Formats: sequence, structure tokens, C-alpha cells
Amino acid sequence: MNYEGSVFRPPSEARSLIIQVTIGCSHNKCTFCYMYKEKQFRVRKIEDVKNDLDESRVRYREIKRIFLADGDALALKTDKLKEILEYIKLIFPECERVGIYTSPQNISKKSEDDLVLLSSLGLGIAYLGLESGSDTVLENVKKGVTSADMIEAGKKVVEAGIKLSVMVISGLGGRELWKEHAIESARVLNEIKPNYIGLLTLLVEPETEMFKQIRAGEFQLLKAKEVLLETKELLTRLNVNACTFRSNHASNYLNLAGELSEDKERLLKQIDDALLGEHVLNIETYRRL
Ligand code: SF4
Repeated sequence: MNYEGSVFRPPSEARSLIIQVTIGCSHNKCTFCYMYKEKQFRVRKIEDVKNDLDESRVRYREIKRIFLADGDALALKTDKLKEILEYIKLIFPECERVGIYTSPQNISKKSEDDLVLLSSLGLGIAYLGLESGSDTVLENVKKGVTSADMIEAGKKVVEAGIKLSVMVISGLGGRELWKEHAIESARVLNEIKPNYIGLLTLLVEPETEMFKQIRAGEFQLLKAKEVLLETKELLTRLNVNACTFRSNHASNYLNLAGELSEDKERLLKQIDDALLGEHVLNIETYRRL
């Protein structure tokens, strides 16, 4: 199977079969994002998607999870997604979950019935990049949506019975807005009540607009300890039950994972211990900037 360009997937889809149903991201304007810069957004032909699925069927004996890429594959029309999900059910009857990246822009174009239908056909989890709950930060990074759009979209997915994983980027407010970023992100997450919250830490690649802003002194990255203080502020304010919290991506300074209903105090203690310890400063030497 030939993937077109670089392919990205959430950390929890590391063992999934990745199938590109779109190429690139239909927004592609976020100042911190390098993922699809080289790609012009388009929807792949359904025959090409089916060919990839057929080829994978021949190659792999058992596929439990499939992730539909690229950037926001839920941008596909419902009929097309329905056809793909039905084909997956037909040739991978053992597949337990299909995942997809999504955005408020494309969720708003789906009716509640569309989402319920996709859920019934096996769409088991959607990944939403909140990045920040602060409207100022969202505007600064050119996310193209507001926190209200994020809340509406997230709730719609949860109500349709599709599991929702929401990603927040530590450090995205920089030194100036770190507290607002933490407080507002907690507010939005508390409203959405997702099943999973994933925390990544901002890593800035040279091809991004944010890289130029840093060079020009317009944006200040947080240091490791500041990131942990921001995480502590966010976590303290989270009030979501039945939600798994993870900050165990390669970009994170400190591995945190637990159920918010049971493990919140332990996670906060882990942060406090790290703040007191030496190793946070050592980890900082691995940062790129
Ligand atoms: S962060 Fe998401 S929406 Fe923004 S450009 Fe990257 S893939 Fe597209």
C-alpha cells in the first residue's frame, strides 16, 4: 500500500491499520502545525480506498482497529463514509473499532442522524484537536473556530454515542497566556465531557509560522517547569467523570495516565513530585528550541 506523503495518527492508534480516505487537512492554517503543509487537501476516490482495504486484507490475518486518515477525514460526505464503513464491516468482520480525526467545521456539516448512523456502522472514536479552550489562543494560532464551536461539536459527537478523545497542547498560550490557556481549556473540557483527554506538549517545527514568531520574539515557549505548572492548573480544574486522562506522548515532560474520577489526586501529586525533582530540568535538554 502506498501512503501519500507523511501519515499521522493519534498515539492510541499506534497498532491500528491506517487508511487514507482524505489527503491533507481542509483547514491547514494553524500556526503551530506542520503535519500537512506539503499537501493540498482532497478526498480520495472510493475505489482507491477500497483497493487499500483489499490489499490490507490479503496482507494481515487479523485487524482489530482501523484509523481513517488524513487530517480531518470526517470531512467526507456521510454517504461516502457509510460506504467505507460498510466495506470495512464486510471484509474485516473482526474489526472492533474505526477511528477518525475530526474538527468542529466538519462536525457542524453532519446532522445528529448522520453521526448516529456512522456510529452504528462502526465509527467508534473521533479525535478532536481542541488545542486550547481560550478564544484568544485559538485566534492567535489561527485555528479557525471558537471555544463555543468546540463545545458544540464535542457534545454532538458524545451524544451520538461515538467515543470522543480531545487533545490539548501544553504551552500553546506561551508565557503570556499560559494561565488563561489552562483555565479556559479546563472550562471547555468540563462542558464537553469527553471520554479521553490527551495532553501533548508544543513542539515547534521550522516550517511553521510559529517558528518565525519565536525567532521574532513574538511568542515565548514555556520551560519544562512552567509546562508542569500549567498542567497542574488544568488538571486541578478538570471536573469530568468517566474520562481517561493521558499525557504520555513522546513530547511530554512527565508521563501521566489515569482515570479522572479515581486518580486525579495521584496525578497532581506526580506533578508536585516532578516540580520538586531535578529530572524535569534534565529532560529540558532534549527540547529542540
Ligand atoms: S492542527 Fe489540525 S486543523 Fe490545524 S492545520 Fe493541523 S491538522 Fe489542520
